[in-house]
Amino acid sequence: ASAQAADPTLQVRREAALGGELSPLFYRQPLQVVRGEGAWIHTADGRRYLDAYNNVPVVGHAHPAVVQALSRQAAVLNLNSRYLHPNVVELAERLVASMPAGLDTCVFANSGSEANDLAWRMARVVTGRDGAVVADLSYHGVSEATAAFSTNTYPASARPAHVAVFEAPRDPSDDGMAAAQRVRSARGDLGRAGHDLALLAVDSVFSSAGILTPGSSFMRGLQDEARASGGLFLADEVQAGFGRGGQNLWRFQDFGLTPDFVTLGKPMGNGHPVAALITRREIAEAFVEVDEYFSTFGGNPVSCVAALTVLDVIEQTGLVARSGEVGAQLRAGLESLVPDLRVRGQGLMVGVEIPGAPEFAERLRDNGVLVGTTGPGGGVLKIRPPLIWESSHVEVFLSAFEAALR
Ligand code: PMP
Repeated sequence: ASAQAADPTLQVRREAALGGELSPLFYRQPLQVVRGEGAWIHTADGRRYLDAYNNVPVVGHAHPAVVQALSRQAAVLNLNSRYLHPNVVELAERLVASMPAGLDTCVFANSGSEANDLAWRMARVVTGRDGAVVADLSYHGVSEATAAFSTNTYPASARPAHVAVFEAPRDPSDDGMAAAQRVRSARGDLGRAGHDLALLAVDSVFSSAGILTPGSSFMRGLQDEARASGGLFLADEVQAGFGRGGQNLWRFQDFGLTPDFVTLGKPMGNGHPVAALITRREIAEAFVEVDEYFSTFGGNPVSCVAALTVLDVIEQTGLVARSGEVGAQLRAGLESLVPDLRVRGQGLMVGVEIPGAPEFAERLRDNGVLVGTTGPGGGVLKIRPPLIWESSHVEVFLSAFEAALR
């Protein structure tokens, strides 16, 4: 049923209709994808590739339980979120219950960008300020507000005056004191431009900065200094969340943080678009006194049942712990393959600093494994597979890696 012949015209037609530069594809010879199954992606030329890149299919491509739940609900009813439906309530309850005490209010959206955008709007209302502090080389979304927070997408000279940066933690000596100092300095930059810190947003895996492994002290320093200065703290879990770190469901929990906002997306629906913002009731209430929020599709019954099923699968199959174990195997394997290889990360979010990373990713693809690149100049291999990886997948990965080294 999934057979689909390779279509040699597809790339040219895509470029004509979507714009080449606007919608780039991965790889010199892009993959024409046909079907996904677990950790594997099948292409129209009859090959299959081990997926070591895609975090969205967190419980595996086309997971039968998610597909069944989605299609059942789609066959019954889907509509906007102004009606009472148990899927929506249950998902909000489950998410809120997974958060630290006080993060008691859930708002649904369709993308990480929208969730971050809403956190920003709320932070401005609550603090009465309009400045943001984010990491250098950060990524937080595509809306006008969140694109401004995405400092890896434009040169420093183009940074708007209401956005200031702190340097991401690249050194083991980057502790809480260093973090607090960086936040104070960023706040000084905002002050000179006539702004003050409303929101500090951080992706705790520093994915676009090259996948960093910060210490708890640094992360707490960011949070505490942002709060001490009268601002609010956002843990962007769009990449890091849903167990990828291998210790907790949410990466910010590994550091003992208690954010004012948590945003979720990407893996939340295993490929189905659904996202959320979790915050405290008093923040949400202060916001609705002066503004409003409505998302047509955000939190519809189909999206919510997909997300509920993803949570079920993660829980029932112990994927958080598995991510920790398999991630450790992967990092150890890489380190033993190349003794002085610079391997970073936690759980199944792994960065490998390697000369010629983009070319190396092409060679891995030739050897049947899909990875991405990130960091300055794309110099870091980004390894971020579905969490259902087992030792056997690590072995396939390592032998492809070895072959690509030769
Ligand atoms: N935050 C982070 C950390 C992300 O990685 C992304 C997506 N790459 C986003 C936000 C934006 O999410 P979306 O693409 O769903 O809008």
